Amino acid sequence: MKIEDHEVILKVNDLKKYYPMKKNKAGSTVVKAVDNVNFHIKKGETLGIVGESGCGKSTLAKVIIQLLEATEGDILLEGIPLTDCKGTKLKEIRRSMQMIFQDPYASLNPRWTVERTLLEPLIVHKIGTKDERKKIIKNIMRDVGLDESYLSRYPHEFSGGQRQRIGIARALVLNPKLIIADEPVSALDISVQAQILNLLKDLQEEYDLTYMFITHDLSVVQYIADRIMVMYLGRIVEIGSTETIFSKPLHPYTEALISAVPQVTEEKSKERIIIKGDLPSPTSPPTGCHFHTRCPFVMDKCKIERPELHFTNESRAVACHLHSLQ
Ligand code: SF4
Repeated sequence: MKIEDHEVILKVNDLKKYYPMKKNKAGSTVVKAVDNVNFHIKKGETLGIVGESGCGKSTLAKVIIQLLEATEGDILLEGIPLTDCKGTKLKEIRRSMQMIFQDPYASLNPRWTVERTLLEPLIVHKIGTKDERKKIIKNIMRDVGLDESYLSRYPHEFSGGQRQRIGIARALVLNPKLIIADEPVSALDISVQAQILNLLKDLQEEYDLTYMFITHDLSVVQYIADRIMVMYLGRIVEIGSTETIFSKPLHPYTEALISAVPQVTEEKSKERIIIKGDLPSPTSPPTGCHFHTRCPFVMDKCKIERPELHFTNESRAVACHLHSLQ
């Protein structure tokens, strides 16, 4: 089924984020943190982005939200190219995209009350009168499950879960369309993780939100995401619906990640695939397929030729020579 442009909220074309460095042994002068990435997110869906630490997922988030400048490529929010927006136009468009961070304590100003934290974005963007702003933040406090009496308190007076609720409230205050959540539950206890994930699901419906959800935890992404994009050393290796990725992973790296997730099903659980070795350094990634040094199916071709992202159908793509041979 063809995806129409009006269904897409975010489109990323040939995006690159390279960092210059001194020439290394392999002759490389750049670190390719994000390397030629192409994907889209449909309105109202949750795209989960997974991969080991250092795979480029957080850099990708920061480039999309314009905290980092792209080296090359286009980012389009509802068809508007962000890379061409400057000044007031960029400020306006950035209202539509907000971020939730991993460590809510570090992302909140310890000297500001919750009220000031939530009012600040409204004041900066000149939204509403004094009374209207107060009404907005009280409603949001209620929606994230916090009592409005907490508005006068400071971040240190809250638990980790409550602080993440404040982080979510701050992201919601400007009524965004897209929320980029970077490991939003990984610093929380398991029981609190479930509460925050359920809250995010409820808010998605209530506020008509689209999520780009970054995590290294496959169990979390299985619960929250409609589609999953797997990254390895700055490149996309596989993308598809959560159901198909979990039931039939195509890329050996995805297969290994999925095999490590405990499944509560009646089916006999699949044998765990252990990936050998550590993630290679992004400063000198392996030639050809970046995964070839750890792949149990490596062929000669894999060491020389980069596998391109190959679409097996409209919504499923994989970058692996095993599948481009078919
Ligand atoms: Fe393994 Fe080769 Fe596929 Fe890379 S391209 S994942 S090395 S089989």
